[in-house]
Order: sequence, then structure tokens, then C-alpha cells
Amino acid sequence: MPELPEVETTRRDLAPHVEGRLVTGVVLRRPDLRWPIPPEVARELPGQAVTGVRRRATYLLLDTAPGSALLHLGMSGMLRVLPAKTPVAAHDHVDLALDSGRVLRFTDPRRFGCLLWQPAGETHELLAHLGPEPLSDDFDGDYLFERSRGRKAPVKAFLMDQAIVVGVGNIYAAESLFQAGIAPGRAAGSVSRERYARLAAAVKTILAHAITRGGTTLRDFLSPDGAPGYFEQELFVYGRAGAPCKACGATLKAADWGQRATVYCPRCQR
Ligand SMILES: [Zn+2]
Repeated sequence: MPELPEVETTRRDLAPHVEGRLVTGVVLRRPDLRWPIPPEVARELPGQAVTGVRRRATYLLLDTAPGSALLHLGMSGMLRVLPAKTPVAAHDHVDLALDSGRVLRFTDPRRFGCLLWQPAGETHELLAHLGPEPLSDDFDGDYLFERSRGRKAPVKAFLMDQAIVVGVGNIYAAESLFQAGIAPGRAAGSVSRERYARLAAAVKTILAHAITRGGTTLRDFLSPDGAPGYFEQELFVYGRAGAPCKACGATLKAADWGQRATVYCPRCQR
């Protein structure tokens, strides 16, 4: 599953080729991906200029005057800008033809991705209940502190809750909690304002770093669960259960909170 840094890297790669271009045609080679492709996509897009390529959480939006094409890459989706004559291969499900003589091609072997429609001025249901973007000014230690009061859930689960903040996947949550010195199993409501300020700063630093890495290493390195943008040797805790802590030498522990194993340092993280 592509994580926020990979999707942001994709957005930055696509934007110069798509923004300002007219959509000259839409080719749908099947009626659905994860969900049916709504008729507005083929009806509304042709003749429209793409005014922006935006990201919200791990969704991409191609903005036009009547509305936005809303895309998710799912497990295996890929967006490429190709010469219009590029032969169509298996799993090339959607082409948006552009007036540059190229096509924006959506390829998705497993079809967990989606192509939906968000009318101008509306917010799609999938985006309606999401928390703030982690790299925005709306996300900081005060925000985490206020939202966490009274919560008994582990702080790691709280941080990975998309209604609290979007785009902090397992790898980024584990590494951010290590940097902030917070034990992942601690009740979210018991973390102080000061420690949440450190945690918010760590999330921003780690995601921003992964985005810069994503531009160059995205295609070279995939971690065990497919989180790109990080070199294995840069990870402090993720995937390192039983290994010595790089900060203090203690043996890193693995524990299960919620569905996924998490690794932490019992000495550095409290
Ligand atoms: Zn340690």
C-alpha cells in the first residue's frame, strides 16, 4: 500500500506534465476498479483543463472546473505519463488523453485502487472524515494533546487513526515515537503536551525526509511491508526487534497493540 510520502512523490512527478493540460479524451477499459467508475469521469473530463494535481491523505485529486477525478493507488496501482501511442498492456485500465500528445495511464494489476468523482464544491465521502495533513500547520503538539485527552487507546494506535491525522503509517508511527521517546503502548491520554510537541515535530521531520528520499529511492528500495522512501539503515526501530537500540544499546522489544507488531526501545521510550 503506498504511503503518504510515495503518493506525494507521485503527485510531484505528475504535476508538471498534467497541470494546465486539456483532457482530450477518457478511455475506460473496464467499468470498475475497486468500485465502479462513476459516469461523470468520462462525461465531464473531456474538454476540461486540469487546474491542479492535489493530494489529500493518500488520495490524488485532478482538479477541473466541474469537479475532481479522485484516485487511489490501492495496493498495486501506478500512474504514468506516456506518449499516446504507447501500446496498452494488461492491467492498463484507464487513459486520460492530454493535449500534450501524452496520456495519463492508470495501471493496477490487483484493482484495489479507485477512480471516483468529486463534484466541484463538494467533499467526497472518502475524504469527509479525515484528520489534518501531518505536514500542515493544523497538526502540532497542542492539537494532539487536545484530541488525546481521556483516551485510553495506545498512543501508536491514536497516531495511526486517520480521523486524528492522516498518512502516519506503521513505519512512520514507530520511528516517530522512538524519536520522541514515547512508549507506543502508553495510553494516548497520559502523554504530556511537551511530549506531544516532540512527537508532532518527529512526524513532520520523518515524513518530509521520506518525501525527499521518495524522489530518488522510491524505485530502488521497498521495506518488508512496502513502505518506500526510507533506507533500511536509517530505521531505528521498525523491523529491528531483538537488535540493539542504536541510541542506548538495549535490546529492542516487539509488542502487539492492535493488529500490527510494533518495535520499541524499553529504555529510550517511556
Ligand atoms: Zn534505546
